[in-house]
Amino acid sequence: MKIYADNAATTKMSRKAIDAMLPLMEENYGNPSSLYEFGQKAKEAIEGAREEIAGIINADPSEITFTSGGSEADNQAILTAAELGKKKGKTHIISSAFEHHAVLHTLKKLEKEGFTVTLLDVHEDGLIRPEELEAAITDDTCLVTIMFANNEIGTIQPIREIGEICRKKGVLFHTDAVQAIGHLPIDVKADNIDMLSASGHKFHGPKGCGFLYVKKGIKLSNLIEGGAQERGKRAGTENVPAIVAMATALKEAADGMQENTAKQEKLRDRLIEGLAKIEHSALNGDAKKRLPGNVNFCFEGIEGESLLLLLDDKGICASSGSACTSGSLDPSHVLLAIGRVHDVAHGSLRLTLGEDITEEEVDYLIDSVTEVVNYLRGFSPVWRDLKAGKTPFILP
Ligand SMILES: *Cc1c(COP(=O)(O)O)cnc(C)c1O
Repeated sequence: MKIYADNAATTKMSRKAIDAMLPLMEENYGNPSSLYEFGQKAKEAIEGAREEIAGIINADPSEITFTSGGSEADNQAILTAAELGKKKGKTHIISSAFEHHAVLHTLKKLEKEGFTVTLLDVHEDGLIRPEELEAAITDDTCLVTIMFANNEIGTIQPIREIGEICRKKGVLFHTDAVQAIGHLPIDVKADNIDMLSASGHKFHGPKGCGFLYVKKGIKLSNLIEGGAQERGKRAGTENVPAIVAMATALKEAADGMQENTAKQEKLRDRLIEGLAKIEHSALNGDAKKRLPGNVNFCFEGIEGESLLLLLDDKGICASSGSACTSGSLDPSHVLLAIGRVHDVAHGSLRLTLGEDITEEEVDYLIDSVTEVVNYLRGFSPVWRDLKAGKTPFILP
C-alpha cells in the first residue's frame, strides 16, 4: 500500500486546479499589464480569481493581494504592522511560541530593529488562552499575530475571541491561516481578522502561490519594489495560471468542506484511538480542537527519524516535526512549546490525512506504526533502561 499522510507539508493538486491552469499557459498566456485584449484576458482571469477568493472568506476583492505563498504573506503582514506601529511610536508585538518560522524569524528580525516581542505560552493542549493575550496587550502593542491552526499538532486557536480582544483594544490582528483555509470555515468579518495569510499548496492548489487578506484602510508595505502590479503593493508579473488554479482549488475545498470534514474527523479519531493503544505514547494537542486530518503522537524511547525511514519502507509518507526543521537534530519548537521534554519530543510522528483517506488505509497506518514502534523499541537501549526501571517513564 502507498499512503501519502503528509498533507500538512503539501497537498496533491486537484484535477480541477490543473485543468484551470493549462489554458492560461497554452492559450491565454498574455501579460496582464498589457493593454491589448490578449493581455486583458489574463487580467480578467486574475480579477475573477480575486473575487472568488474574497467571496469565500467574506472579504472585498480589493482586500486580497496575491503573493508567492504563505511565507511571503506572513512577512508582508508583519512588516506592514511594524511600520504602521513605528509611525505611532508603538513597538510591541504579541505572538505565540509555536508559530511557523515565517512568523518567528520575521519577529526575530524586528527585535534586532528595536521591537519587543512577547511570545504567549502555549498550554499543554496546544492552545493559547485569550485572557493571557488580553493581559499582555499594552499601550505600546501594535500587532497580535497568532496562527489559526498549527501546522504540526493541528490545534485550532480561539480566533474569534482573539480577534474580539484585539478589536476592543485597537490592536491589529494578523493570523497565519495557511493550515486552516480550505479546511475550516473562515469569515474575516465575523472572526475580527485584520490580516490573514494563505498558501495555495496546502489546499490542493499550486506551490509558490498564496495571498494576503488586508482589511480596507490598512496601508500595505511593499516587500518587492518594481511595477504597479497588485495596486503597487507587490511588484512582479503575476503568476496568472497559479493564481487561477489556487482560486479553483479553494472553491472546490470550500464546496466540499462540510462533507470532507465529517468523513476526515471520523477517520482521524479512529487513527488516534488505534495509536493510543501503543504503550507509553501520547497524542500531542487537544483531541477535538484540531484540524480534521491531523494526528500527532509522541512515542517514548523512539527516534522520530528512524520511525520515518521504516514507515517509508512500508509506503507511508509521514513527518516528524515540520519539513523545515527535518534535517536538523533540534526537536520541534512546537512540541517544546507545549511542554514536551527533548527526549519525548524527538520521538514524534505527524500523520496528516487527505480528504480521500479510507478506513482500510487508516487501519494499515495503525498496524504499520505499531509494528515499527515495537521493532525499534526492541533494540533501543533507552527503552531497555525505561523498562528495567533504571529511568522513569515520562509518558503514561
Ligand atoms: C506551509 C506553511 C507556511 C509557508 O507557506 P509557503 O507557501 O510554503 O511559503 C506558513 N505557515 C504555515 C502554518 C504553514 O503550514
